[in-house]
Amino acid sequence: MGKTAARVAIACAAATCAVAAVAASNRLRQRANWSRAVAIVDEFREAFQTPMPLLKHVVDAMVAEMHAGLVREGGSKLTMLLSFVDSLPTGDEHGLYYALDLGGTNFRVLRLQLGGKNGRILNKEYQEVSIPPDLMIGSNEELFDFIAQRLGDFVAQEGEDYNPHGKIRELGFTFSFPVNQTSINSGHLLKWTKGFAIAETVGKDVVSELQTAMVRQGLQMRVAALVNDTVATLAGARYWNKDVMVAVILGTGTNACYVEHADSIPKWRSALPKSGDMVINMEWGNFWSNYLPKTQIDEALDKDSVNPGEQGFEKLFSGMYLGDIVRRALLKLAKEAALFGERVPSKLSLPFILRTPDVSAMHTDESSDLEETSRVLSSVFGIKSSSLQVRRLIVEVCEIVAERGARLAAAGIVGILRKIEGDCVANGVANGEVGKVNLANGELGKLIGNNKVNGRKTVVAIDGGLYEHYPKFRNCVDSTITELLGKDAAKDVIVQLFKDGSGIGAAFLAASHSLYR
Ligand code: ADP
Ligand code: MG
Repeated sequence: MGKTAARVAIACAAATCAVAAVAASNRLRQRANWSRAVAIVDEFREAFQTPMPLLKHVVDAMVAEMHAGLVREGGSKLTMLLSFVDSLPTGDEHGLYYALDLGGTNFRVLRLQLGGKNGRILNKEYQEVSIPPDLMIGSNEELFDFIAQRLGDFVAQEGEDYNPHGKIRELGFTFSFPVNQTSINSGHLLKWTKGFAIAETVGKDVVSELQTAMVRQGLQMRVAALVNDTVATLAGARYWNKDVMVAVILGTGTNACYVEHADSIPKWRSALPKSGDMVINMEWGNFWSNYLPKTQIDEALDKDSVNPGEQGFEKLFSGMYLGDIVRRALLKLAKEAALFGERVPSKLSLPFILRTPDVSAMHTDESSDLEETSRVLSSVFGIKSSSLQVRRLIVEVCEIVAERGARLAAAGIVGILRKIEGDCVANGVANGEVGKVNLANGELGKLIGNNKVNGRKTVVAIDGGLYEHYPKFRNCVDSTITELLGKDAAKDVIVQLFKDGSGIGAAFLAASHSLYR
């Protein structure tokens, strides 16, 4: 070998060594990153966990806060608003009724001809209208005129199958924004949400605004009931089943309502009929208890939100937030463990870019190479390649976040059931029917089982896209309710998806609060 050749050989060997050294160091770094990623996910699992004892505390806290919220205004973060719905549909309702459901970017109008117990719903028609975005931030008059006009157009199409029998047409108005209700058909708007921003409307009676607009449009119609989506869902489900006592919305947001005895509502005793039942709109999205597992991610999400410190329960699991909780978890993994390579994909930092249906798609991905997860990573974050190992970890993050949410929602529902059941027991005790029952002692399952009102089952009606379209979330809600109640007692509680109750329920309520009742 000549001198030159020897030099070349030495240089090549050195270069090979250097490349090997770099490769080895890369491997070491990757291994360290992967260990860090696994450790972070372990931390998530720990911080997001909701073991049974914790859930039972949440159940107790829900019961306590419900009582506190009923005692006086401001008594709890649960506002426990009176809905003024003191007469729920029975199925006996007769006649022609309309509903208007406004709760987002679309509104629905609905027409029903009811034929009583035997006929039930003789005819039903509806139409969906999307609201032009400029009207959502325009003037009060323009918005209500638009709604009244479209409602008028719909009324004008009333065919021969529908007959008002000379009566004034009546309407149930589902208005899913925060309202301070003053009677069954009046209430002042507290604030707009969901993209609406018309300052003029705030503080006004939304029923008067609608009635005035209807007059301007030459439409003769009476608003018989003003409700939100939760209360309308309860009414809609009650029409078919008299055992429905609770309704829960698990959609973009979350809320719950239930049937309460009027004499258990101290703060409104003077405003209420002497006896009977009243639907209470809990506004449970704002529920809070220190037992709720709030992680650093939840704290950051709340701090960055438009309403810090508010809607704490909702921010743990409603459809609006689940996606962003997962995104924040993935961002931490990208930053601290280079899960997607040395450069953090910039889209991971965009709030709300990952939506809850994407989380559902990844969580539900059962393909052997997690193809759907790949698709979401690519389409949402522009992450074009990832290892199967990484995708598995991401699916696990989805599971950790969704499971916590579903279990907390279930604990909330069981809290309501327990409040209802506790009242039955209290009444039973007063009547000397029920002996030494210790509510605080894990007797929950037994109570629900032993103290059914008149031996009937209790039905919980649930509506909302999160519950409807995310099967793993739904199954987890259902199974956790059973776990909390105990198998035997759970047999007496039926949890049921009740779709689109928010429109039809309002029409039923117009019937049960009709002038011609
Ligand atoms: P809203 O609550 O606005 O009245 P919905 O009840 O229809 O509307 O719920 C819509 C919400 O449901 C969405 O914001 C989304 O969070 C959730 N959702 C819809 N589809 C899915 C899905 N496939 N998986 C998980 N969540 C979904
Ligand atoms: Mg809805």
